[in-house]
Amino acid sequence: MNIHEHQAKEILREYGLPVSKGQVVTTISDLNEKLSKLKGQEFVLKAQIHAGGRGKAGGVKLIKDLKELEFEAKKMMGKVLVTHQTGPEGKTVKRLYIEEASEIQKEFYLSCLIDRESSKIAFISSTEGGMDIEKVAAETPDKIVTTKIELDKDISQEDIEKIISPFNFSQKQTNDAYKLVRGLYKILIEKDASLIEINPLIITKSGNLLCLDAKMNFDDNAIFRRPEVLKLRDLNEEDPIEIEASKFDLAYIKLNGSIGCMVNGAGLAMATMDIIKLHGKEPANFLDVGGGASKEKVSAAFKLILSDKNVKGILINIFGGIMRCDVLAQGVVDAAKEINLSVPLVVRLAGTNFNEGKEILEKSNLKILSALDLNDAAKKIVEAIK
Ligand code: ADP
Ligand code: MG
Repeated sequence: MNIHEHQAKEILREYGLPVSKGQVVTTISDLNEKLSKLKGQEFVLKAQIHAGGRGKAGGVKLIKDLKELEFEAKKMMGKVLVTHQTGPEGKTVKRLYIEEASEIQKEFYLSCLIDRESSKIAFISSTEGGMDIEKVAAETPDKIVTTKIELDKDISQEDIEKIISPFNFSQKQTNDAYKLVRGLYKILIEKDASLIEINPLIITKSGNLLCLDAKMNFDDNAIFRRPEVLKLRDLNEEDPIEIEASKFDLAYIKLNGSIGCMVNGAGLAMATMDIIKLHGKEPANFLDVGGGASKEKVSAAFKLILSDKNVKGILINIFGGIMRCDVLAQGVVDAAKEINLSVPLVVRLAGTNFNEGKEILEKSNLKILSALDLNDAAKKIVEAIK
């Protein structure tokens, strides 16, 4: 799960880390009141979307007074912002953040994340902050320092020394940086974050450290034990079909093909997608209904697949282990009747209660093609949608 910059900064503030004062705006009529709560001569108006690269796309504007603020806020609110992280469809701006402007002396990059490859927590630091860090990594990798922390130990002095080694800080800045690194590490663990990215971390003209941007991602599998994090979820920022899928605890990813897939187990789902491709068609989605799916869950999955207008046929491939074939069959039959199934459906079942499942499908009077094995199933569905 992602959160907005202003929410991430609120968490940083809670942990005593340096961020500027700011105010969130969701309605233009509040601008005057919000601005009056801030100090300074200059402000920055920032579009709040779950994507970076806003600066280059017009989502970060320097403003001097209420008049300018009103003008820019009206332009920004409701605008579709297309950045290198949003994809070509962009994201609609539904909330803004006004922040006291900072005088920047230098911008740095600092992030803390779960590195799955090494099963460690890693910090990434670089003097090349504010820019596209992927570009720096590709073109000048020597400018990026990666520090991996042993999970069974707390972060050590040597670790922190290495993390901040590129920055060339003064003694006071170094002390503040120690606090910052320890704080980020603590947040990552205590909130089950998978990524905290401060880009840019800056040194102000007066020599102070400040987190000028903040991005946080959280581990979906741990959210249940972090209700304070879950409260920050903004459904406006998420794909409606994926929201629906998450309600039923289904792993669903939309793809661009025409054959909808319902499978149990991620490995089997991958194999099913591969074999559809082998027979010359493309899958419309990845969908893992999981191990012990209920009839309701199967039915929800079926409706999700059909809500995609590109779907011209469905392939159900279930291996009954914990999941029983009869439960699957009943879920499919109920859902198919409810929504008046109009596309070809091929079902391949194997395993627990296979015979009962087959019987339910046969008695349903639905037009279902059954398949002997995976290859046969893929062949049949490709044939059926021609
Ligand atoms: P994004 O990463 O989405 O482009 P940032 O928050 O990093 O958005 O902002 C882009 C740039 O705008 C920063 O690198 C910084 O130069 C400038 N900026 C952002 N916030 C402020 C601020 N409060 N004061 C001064 N400059 C800012
Ligand atoms: Mg940034």
